[in-house]
Amino acid sequence: MSFDAIIVGGGLGGSALAKNLAEAGHRVLVLERETRFKDRVRGEQMHPWGVAAARSLGVYDHIIGNQTRWWITYLGGSPMAKRDLARTTPHGVGSFNFYHPDMQESLLGLAEQTGAEVRRGITVDSVVPGSPPSVKFQKNGKREVISAQVVVGADGRNSMVRSWAGFQVQQDPDRLLIAGTLLEVTPVPDDSTHLVAGPEGAVLMAPLGEKRARVYYLYRKADGDQHLSGNQKVSEFLSNCRAAGAPGEWFDGTHIAGPLAQFNGADHWVDHPARDNVVLTGDAAAASDPDWGCGLSLTLLDVLHLRDCLCSTSDWSAALDHYARKHDRCYGTVHQITNWMAELIWTTGPAADERRARILARIFSDPAGLPDLIGLGPESPTDEPKDLSHES
Ligand SMILES: Cc1cc2nc3c(=O)[nH]c(=O)nc-3n(C[C@H](O)[C@H](O)[C@H](O)COP(=O)(O)OP(=O)(O)OC[C@H]3O[C@@H](n4cnc5c(N)ncnc54)[C@H](O)[C@@H]3O)c2cc1C
Repeated sequence: MSFDAIIVGGGLGGSALAKNLAEAGHRVLVLERETRFKDRVRGEQMHPWGVAAARSLGVYDHIIGNQTRWWITYLGGSPMAKRDLARTTPHGVGSFNFYHPDMQESLLGLAEQTGAEVRRGITVDSVVPGSPPSVKFQKNGKREVISAQVVVGADGRNSMVRSWAGFQVQQDPDRLLIAGTLLEVTPVPDDSTHLVAGPEGAVLMAPLGEKRARVYYLYRKADGDQHLSGNQKVSEFLSNCRAAGAPGEWFDGTHIAGPLAQFNGADHWVDHPARDNVVLTGDAAAASDPDWGCGLSLTLLDVLHLRDCLCSTSDWSAALDHYARKHDRCYGTVHQITNWMAELIWTTGPAADERRARILARIFSDPAGLPDLIGLGPESPTDEPKDLSHES
């Protein structure tokens, strides 16, 4: 069997793309390393614009999750703004929270049911760009080399496809660290996503339903790296969450149901993620700082754009180039906004305090015309407005 597309990585991006290309009649092979998905402490809270992309790709109904209509921001330990996402976002939905490993199992299964060939437990040894590009891989000591019209690197933030294909990676300076774990038996209200801003750090609590929640703690690297990974750091992690102002009862009597892991938030990305019939999507193309919770949504926008480009022409080399330009615009807009927000929220000193008080008051009282990472993402107004929906 020969393939039109070989996709390395069966995460959110790889599976959603495989399902859509197979549905359009293309022969697709997915190569996934894991035989069973486990908790890697990844994204579990998707903004409303990501939900819209998930619906357009036909994957939303296959993810079991919790819609949270409200977004509550806490300051000094008390709620200071409660946003109705269903009423204040163009897509009219809340944010969508789900357990990442279950989402992966479900979507990779969906890709297979739709007609993609899925092989798991694969070790990919190399990708060679060209016409055609090829992938060398092995399973249980049996080696194979397969070529296709296009090879897609959907292999996440530490992408090897990216290195094998010779893409240059750029990285922002270190700024924020993010640590996360999974709570069970927590009374956190699950109709809302909760953002708690404290003096030293912030907490994002994403309820998954049935008294489970993913909790992340965000803090400045310049204040000292606390290395919040591993069981022995759980009590330090929880006391940081409490010190940020998160209600203590959210954590009292809860059970830690997954690993605790910390990551460096700094964005790393590739400009124009397509060359010689190898293309990158999702985190492999651009890992947006997880502190802003845009990665899942950006990944699905990549898939939407790549699907539309590949399905609109038989000239796939031109399609990849077109996709890469769309990707750069979308990710570039979100990146610019997250950089502004990081500067606004995390800079220290009296001038920064004064600016923060002034601008946050405006954001909470009259947000019209301001960037909105939660509701609009790359459709947000910036100093260079772009209408991405009509881009040809
Ligand atoms: C701590 C943290 C918190 C986050 N929080 C949020 C959030 O709240 N909201 C949000 O929107 N985003 C968040 N993100 C980002 C989000 O998780 C990612 O943007 C998203 O998972 C990217 O999807 P992907 O399919 O590109 O990559 P991944 O989810 O990483 O999937 C890649 C897949 O490729 C497989 N793979 C890797 N290498 C190989 C190989 N060599 N061969 C075969 N298979 C391979 C992996 O096993 C995996 O299944 C967070 C990220 C982190 C680290």
